Amino acid sequence: MSGESWEMVIGLEVHCELATETKLFCGCPNDFGAEPNTYVCPVCLGLPGSLPVLNERAVEFALRVGEALHCDIAEESIFHRKNYFYPDMPKNYQISQYDEPVCGNGWLQVGERRIGVERAHLEEDTGKTAHVGGGGGRIHGADHSLVDYNRAGVPLLEIVSKPDLGSPEEARAYVTELRSVLEAIGVSDVKMEEGSLRVDANISLRPPGSEKLGTRTEIKNMNSLRSLARALEYEAGRQAGVLEAGEAVFQETRHWDEEAGRTHSLRSKEESHDYRYFPEPDLVPLLPSDEWRERVRAAMPELPAARKARLLSAWGISDVEAGVLVSTAGLADYAEAAVAAVSAAGDGAADGAGRAVANWVTGDLLAHLNETGAAPSALSLSPAGLAELVRLVADGTLSRPLAKEVLGAALAGEGGGSPAAIVAERGLAQVSDERELAGVVRAVLDAHPAEVDRYRSGEDKDRKKLRGFFMGKVMAETKGRGNPQVLNRLLDATLAGS
Ligand SMILES: [Zn+2]
Repeated sequence: MSGESWEMVIGLEVHCELATETKLFCGCPNDFGAEPNTYVCPVCLGLPGSLPVLNERAVEFALRVGEALHCDIAEESIFHRKNYFYPDMPKNYQISQYDEPVCGNGWLQVGERRIGVERAHLEEDTGKTAHVGGGGGRIHGADHSLVDYNRAGVPLLEIVSKPDLGSPEEARAYVTELRSVLEAIGVSDVKMEEGSLRVDANISLRPPGSEKLGTRTEIKNMNSLRSLARALEYEAGRQAGVLEAGEAVFQETRHWDEEAGRTHSLRSKEESHDYRYFPEPDLVPLLPSDEWRERVRAAMPELPAARKARLLSAWGISDVEAGVLVSTAGLADYAEAAVAAVSAAGDGAADGAGRAVANWVTGDLLAHLNETGAAPSALSLSPAGLAELVRLVADGTLSRPLAKEVLGAALAGEGGGSPAAIVAERGLAQVSDERELAGVVRAVLDAHPAEVDRYRSGEDKDRKKLRGFFMGKVMAETKGRGNPQVLNRLLDATLAGS
């Protein structure tokens, strides 16, 4: 983009697969990764004479999302048929909500800004098409296509933001926050890589300060937060080029090509009349009772923003650390369990346990999770194990570098994931014994009389360097296990004395 001459206007449509046991309108399992076409029945295959029955749990999840996003819950909402023809949709229509969605007019707090949520509505997912055989055939270069209907009829909640987002970074922050909220309220496993969270973006440009919206394009096929930001960045640059050449942006749907790092035209944007919506005649209106909505409201768990604020003040950790804890799946649960285990032990480690735990969890532990792709709950180091490590540091058994080594070993499964066992096996315990360390200091100084003389008579600059030299020698002598505080004190005393 050329300088600051354009303002980005971005709106996002997030499709969230709801983690119900069964599909939206039938009893087939809602599960990922099964043999193709094993989770199907007459209803989700759209066979003649079959009738849909609405999944109560899916509605409850939609109400939870509405509650978390401060939406108005419609007292009455209805389902529509959205008609279009595609092989992965067996009925040739999708049951969705159109002008009367279950949730409307909400918001999500993202950093300092409140981003509007236009609506959230229930709909069924489509099946999946796979193009196979690389013979350069007519279907995307493939010989033929296979269709898997296991996903057909899986419940989706489509959450549509208002065009309130002003940059790729803000779009990314919105999805991150929304993902944490959806995870915290237990309605979805929010895995972008498995498609249980899918994001489409609308973007247009306008001169700064202008009220009028420019022509927008819709971008599809972004499979990670990183691709979302990259795609928006690219598309903003492309639109700026078009506008600056004096041409008009064409309203269309564009496909993000991750490898090429660009978008390309997919099709001209459909208008709603292209879908010939009409009310679904086989379903009654959805009328969630006041009692039901009250029950949902009363059972709402703590939301990430509130949890972040609580951890910030209770543990005295940084804003960044608290943010990382609540926005990484399962991480805050892990950290809270570790802190609880430290406190339960009832020794001096309880003071500052939150800060110590947050430090390990958002540092070494998170790096390990990112590297291995594991979930916190699957680590060989349990929260109780981390609590053990924190206590070993607090009582002086382990120095910080030794603790780091033990943590690495525990994460690799050594010692059954028990830091205490690893310390015993490797003989790693920090040495704080004064007499033992005094002997080491004396021996090192005796072995370097010339350096000791220079230290005692030398200039200031040299003294600092020599001091470091002695410390290095005694540390090496203790194989890194000497307690640095005790060693420093003994060194000072011995060098100042005889
Ligand atoms: Zn079915």
